[in-house]
Amino acid sequence: MRVLVTGGAGFIGGNLCRRLLADPAIDEVAVIDDLSNGHLQALDGLEVTFEHASILDDRAMARAAHGCSAIVHLAALGSVPRSIANPMSTHDANATGTLKVLEAARANGNAHVVLASSSSVYGANSAIPKTEDLQCLPVSPYAVSKLASEQYAMAYARCYDLPVLPLRFFNVFGPGQIPGHVYAAVVPVFLEAALTGLPLPVNGDGEQSRDFTYVGTVVDTIAQAVVSRTTGSPMNLAFGTRTTLNELIRMLGAALGAELGIEYRPPRPGDVRHSQAANDKLREAFPSVEPVSLSEGLESTIAWMRQHLGNRLATTAGSVS
Ligand code: NAD
Repeated sequence: MRVLVTGGAGFIGGNLCRRLLADPAIDEVAVIDDLSNGHLQALDGLEVTFEHASILDDRAMARAAHGCSAIVHLAALGSVPRSIANPMSTHDANATGTLKVLEAARANGNAHVVLASSSSVYGANSAIPKTEDLQCLPVSPYAVSKLASEQYAMAYARCYDLPVLPLRFFNVFGPGQIPGHVYAAVVPVFLEAALTGLPLPVNGDGEQSRDFTYVGTVVDTIAQAVVSRTTGSPMNLAFGTRTTLNELIRMLGAALGAELGIEYRPPRPGDVRHSQAANDKLREAFPSVEPVSLSEGLESTIAWMRQHLGNRLATTAGSVS
């Protein structure tokens, strides 16, 4: 079985390629990534066929998808603030890009498509936990692009019988998630600040909550979905935990054995207040997946981040050792 991973040089993509290559049911892994946010280091030591191109490039997509019986579609421009700053590029990569991927799947004998959607589609719907049948009320261009992406997939399932599974990721964290850029996610941003002795930047009062999901759990679930050719309507991929950013900071402080400074900033437009997944559908579809807990996941993320920050950490005065 040949599997194409779009966005395979990204955070989740690199972890997924490693997991897929270790699966006896999978013979070959191909990646298409334009490296707009990914890095070849994510694929270090992995035997993948790499196409350095955008999913918007029809010929490159056709080359990359040739002979694939499954596509895991992760390529996208992430980040709510980025989409507010530039909605058109987010739409192109995420919504139009998904159409290109679905077309490539059709052209390859209706390859199975597992695609990354996002908890942001629930947006202004304040119900907790988020069951998949809640009305989606996106509050950012990013969230709209993700809703479009999963709905295009469902339309292809209905119109062309394409086997698809949209998975709504919540806040994924873990080794390989890089800080140091303006649209970085909260866990690497906090860890980089903590390990270099800087105050942790919090947008808002820190009482907003998230359902943090360890990347190892996410890629195990995706690999199971690929191998079992699971299809269906959009499904949450998170396990129903709810942690505020202030709690996350306390956990990081305890794990690092340090008192961490905090710099509270104004809340960001487009951010949702609370996010917690209902996971009944996920548990039913993938009963054997056992989530790695937040504290365990943070331990391995801290170990990876120490290594990633490497020399910088060693030379920074006041850093946490
Ligand atoms: P990431 O930015 O690390 O990975 C995305 C990859 O896609 C990058 O390597 C980037 O270079 C590539 N890419 C972007 N546009 C492309 C294009 N036009 N053509 C080819 N490659 C392109 O992000 P991630 O955290 O690994 O997220 C993977 C997917 O999961 C994305 O679709 C994201 O929207 C979704 N998601 C992630 C989270 C999370 O918490 N990380 C939460 C919800 C949804």
